[in-house]
Amino acid sequence: MPGRCRVGYWGTCHAASGSPASSRARCCSPAARERGRRRIRPPARWGARRRAPRRRPPRCPPRPRRRPPVEEPLTGFVVAVDPGHNGGNAAHPAEVTAPVPDGRGGIKACNTTGTASATDYPEHAFNWEVAAAVRERLEDLGAEVVLSREDDEGVGPCVDERGQFAGDAGADVLVSIHANGTEDTSAAGFHMIVVEDSPHAGVAEPSRTLAEDMVEAFGAADLAPNPAYGDDGIVARTDIAGLNHAKVPAVLVECGEMRNPDEAALMESAAGRERYAAAIVAGVQEFLED
Ligand SMILES: [Zn+2]
Repeated sequence: MPGRCRVGYWGTCHAASGSPASSRARCCSPAARERGRRRIRPPARWGARRRAPRRRPPRCPPRPRRRPPVEEPLTGFVVAVDPGHNGGNAAHPAEVTAPVPDGRGGIKACNTTGTASATDYPEHAFNWEVAAAVRERLEDLGAEVVLSREDDEGVGPCVDERGQFAGDAGADVLVSIHANGTEDTSAAGFHMIVVEDSPHAGVAEPSRTLAEDMVEAFGAADLAPNPAYGDDGIVARTDIAGLNHAKVPAVLVECGEMRNPDEAALMESAAGRERYAAAIVAGVQEFLED
């Protein structure tokens, strides 16, 4: 029975005490030494002493710099946006034709379906998409935006509500977004509708100013007025129930003519809708900042 080998630190080896001499010779062979070197690790106290990581004192969080709150140009203003008509109106004729107060003691149909382009791009979709872009731009400028409807799949609201919601929300201004549907396809250009002799005090005059700011902004966006609606593209009417019900300055923007192929192409493009939206926002901003 061979004696047991004991391998010391550094690979030195020797036979365990009491082993025969032959065992010692085997233990001290080069192969056994190498095995010993590989197996034996010097204890930690022999190695380089590892320093415990120095503990840094906890850092104080940096003091917040005192900066004045960033004020956007329209911070504090509330803008009511009314995208005309709704996607579900056509399928719900009874609800849409139900009579509602017209704001002057008479009645009017709750709502209508709106017009469409020759390629069947519906006005309600155009109005909705422009309104969404208007909302985004106004919110970027710091304004709070309230919409008359939540999506483009519903029915209504009725025209009386479309005027009242702006005052109820404490809005500074109401913009109703539409596109016109003159049958003559050569008709082109925008026009703005304001209330004639509003039932509510203090509304007609600033509404006219709002429409003038809107005309200027449309002009700056290279959009031309429809000459059928006067030199300045503004018409005052008593039969628009939404405007009759508005207790805040209000304008109904007819962005253009959907039956005109050139204007329909503009309305059907995302870039075109952004152009209308930018013009509407510029008009609102001009009015509110003045
Ligand atoms: Zn319309």
